[in-house]
Amino acid sequence: MVSIAFDNSYARLPQRFFAAVAPTPVAAPKLIRLNTPLASELGLDVDWLQGPEGVAMLSGNGMPAGAASIATAYAGHQFGGFSPQLGDGRAILLGEVIDKSGKRYDLQLKGAGPTPFSRRGDGRAALGPVLREYLVSEAMAALGVPTTRALAAVLTGEIVRRETLLPGAVLTRVASSHIRIGTFQYFAARGDIEALRLLADHVIARHYPACAGEDRHLALLEAVITAQAALVAQWMTIGFIHGVMNTDNMSIAGETIDYGPCAFMDTYHPTTVFSSIDEHGRYAFGNQPPIARWNLTRLAEALLPLLADDQSKAVSIAENALDQFDPQFQARLITGFRRKLGLATNEAEDVELIKALLDTMQQGDADFTLVFRRLSEEVGQESAAACRSLFGNPAAFDAWEARWRQRLLRESGLAEARHDTMMGVNPMYIPRNHQIEAVIEAAVERDDLAPFEVLLGVLGQPFDAQPGHEEYARPPAAHERVLATFCGT
Ligand code: AMP
Ligand code: MG
Repeated sequence: MVSIAFDNSYARLPQRFFAAVAPTPVAAPKLIRLNTPLASELGLDVDWLQGPEGVAMLSGNGMPAGAASIATAYAGHQFGGFSPQLGDGRAILLGEVIDKSGKRYDLQLKGAGPTPFSRRGDGRAALGPVLREYLVSEAMAALGVPTTRALAAVLTGEIVRRETLLPGAVLTRVASSHIRIGTFQYFAARGDIEALRLLADHVIARHYPACAGEDRHLALLEAVITAQAALVAQWMTIGFIHGVMNTDNMSIAGETIDYGPCAFMDTYHPTTVFSSIDEHGRYAFGNQPPIARWNLTRLAEALLPLLADDQSKAVSIAENALDQFDPQFQARLITGFRRKLGLATNEAEDVELIKALLDTMQQGDADFTLVFRRLSEEVGQESAAACRSLFGNPAAFDAWEARWRQRLLRESGLAEARHDTMMGVNPMYIPRNHQIEAVIEAAVERDDLAPFEVLLGVLGQPFDAQPGHEEYARPPAAHERVLATFCGT
């Protein structure tokens, strides 16, 4: 009998932070996929996880000794409107483990059955969204973006009812924690300042130990602002659209969380929206930075009672902190795009150069990912002919390219190193929507998980050309284009 060395710090918080609840067993659990490298990093026993007891745990059919088995309480602004009580309606925290490097992680089952927070939901997840989250979160990790991870996916052998009847599945999610902006809002909305302080101090100890000290709650707010500014800047440099940036879906640790209707942009356009529930484009690609700031403002509001006894003083402290978001975000964004363009030095006009490329891409319907990849491939050549062919407005690209080449002349680094750096930051493979949809269709309609395995493998090495897998770098043809994605509910 192998056991997992759980150390459940969140479950040691007062009872009003969560509901104790056991997963609801499923009919016929079948392991689809275990993330063995991640399991090893977490110090988990891979053979045990793949065996009957492990699969029982990963499907919610049997809890190992020491598991927490709780659903956490949180609130949140959803599309701008406040819900004072959301909480884990279909996710159950197995517990926390400490990895080989001493870092603490949550293991959570998503789709493990109803909880006291389920409202009218069934507590379950369908196979399609589970595969989507598995693929996209693992792709994000390979791209170097802070994210929750996928440890395992299991078929339940049961059917879930959505618009149609679909196979059910459970995802085991790994996160630095599942504490969200909405967790703070939950206690703030109840005027429970004691809980707010306990939560803040828990988060400081767990995620931001450098903030400990006298002004620790302001330091915490500033640290979360910095983490989320950095995170969203990374999203913007890879074309990632989260799709449902509600405050309950924004991790306090600054990880990408809640892969519902998320998608990567193909052709560059800042107003791109895929989510079928985002009718007004609130969470469009180009809106993500101001929305992140809006969400952080909600966090600051929740923290006000901890920032100063005097309300107006607390507000001005919070406002000063929030004012750091824009400059921090901009700095991160520019740094990211400079690297994408092979620029190691800083010039004031670089901002214009970056903007001009994005504008040209937008006007010419160019594929965001491929443009940067081809610039990387062709940086050492006379001209970027393959990149040029991506643009519907090649003359505009020529003008931009001439500017870029002039700018590169003022770089001191070796051309070889520049090429290598660019190839290491501009991916060839991203989880393109049409490919994810094809994987899901094969799995759901034909019980065929082979395409999932292949795509997962390709996305694990996004910066390396993989002979035989050129197909996965290709943007969708007109008839393959996916216009809407649906959240996992
Ligand atoms: P999401 O849009 O996935 O962030 O979910 C928003 C809220 O709805 C969270 O409180 C979820 O736990 C809850 N929820 C989503 N899907 C379900 C479901 N199938 N059953 C119960 N609760 C759900
Ligand atoms: Mg959520």
